[in-house]
Amino acid sequence: MKITRIKAHALVVPLGADYWVANEMINQCGQIIIEVETDEGVVGIGTLHGRFIPQVLEMVRELDGFLQGMDAMAHEAVWQKVFDITTTSPGNAAPHNRPRLFASANRQALLIALGGIDVALWDIKGKATNMPVWRLLGGTRKEIHAYVTGGYYWLGHDHFYIAEEMASYIAQGFTGVKMKVGGVDLATDVARVKAVREAIGPNSQLMVDANCAYDWNGAVAAIRAFEPYDIFWFEEPMHWYDSVRSLGKLAQCTHVALASGESEMHAWACRDLIDLGGVRYMEFDASRSGGVTEWLRVAAYAKLKGVQMATHHDAHFQGHLAAAASNGYCVEVFPNPKRDPLWDTLFTHRAQLKNGKLVLGDEPGFGFGIDWKTVEKYRVG
Ligand SMILES: [Mg+2]
Repeated sequence: MKITRIKAHALVVPLGADYWVANEMINQCGQIIIEVETDEGVVGIGTLHGRFIPQVLEMVRELDGFLQGMDAMAHEAVWQKVFDITTTSPGNAAPHNRPRLFASANRQALLIALGGIDVALWDIKGKATNMPVWRLLGGTRKEIHAYVTGGYYWLGHDHFYIAEEMASYIAQGFTGVKMKVGGVDLATDVARVKAVREAIGPNSQLMVDANCAYDWNGAVAAIRAFEPYDIFWFEEPMHWYDSVRSLGKLAQCTHVALASGESEMHAWACRDLIDLGGVRYMEFDASRSGGVTEWLRVAAYAKLKGVQMATHHDAHFQGHLAAAASNGYCVEVFPNPKRDPLWDTLFTHRAQLKNGKLVLGDEPGFGFGIDWKTVEKYRVG
């Protein structure tokens, strides 16, 4: 079965609310959808985080010609052929024939595009073998722990609105919630954490996500102040430019587990987060870079080190990975339509949330369908 065409579509939905986290405003949500067509009529669909949309669309157009004719089941060969672009010698003729594809300035967009294509290839693999991906990967679990991310700062709203919001997720049957920290002074954040802990009760998981808010001293002060509220994990505490070795030092200063990996582009960076950063929950995101193939490599390395996999975003397909991996711990979900309207509108069908778990189906591939009316309504590319 050969790859005959690769297409990309992008959509952006304004949220109608100005949420923010420590390092950025979140007032829209976007997705890039990748379609990989084959000569046997099987079409695989991959979805990507909606970042760098124009650049990723350009890379997908370039990769369409570059990968046509390859075996659609050969995910390793496809992955390596694209990754080799990032290390190819200028003496090779290929860079001269495809200068945009081989430009090192496009590396991030290239790895994102590779991720979406790789996800689509795994969807093809499931459809071609008539198996859901969780089963194709050797798993037996059809359910996995799902926690809700909310607790954002919200422009024009009191910082404590989140206590009621987080309690509402617990009332819906979820047993874990994650809130944002690091965007305001520590005393206010501690009061927010305290209010949420009181609102959700002592038996629910509470994670805090700093979105790279702190230097080392700030991170130590923050986690020591949050510790009394029974924090399940502390996510991305360190500034982006010193996010590995300082994280490792921080790990020795708190009993709270550290989580990171959503910002990484490849498995080598995840290896360092585990070996040098003391990370205990690995959040490498197959919808942001590298795809399923790279996620599986990260999960295998994490397994050797006793680290659990916790997926970031796009649970409709990453749930299959977390459920199949023996060290798959949980998925992150956004059931609040104000924060993620696409969870309810982008799909004709997908995995369901029930009683705090993501429940996967038996449909071949990743078991979701795209509602193209939604794509057309919000299309940007
Ligand atoms: Mg995060």
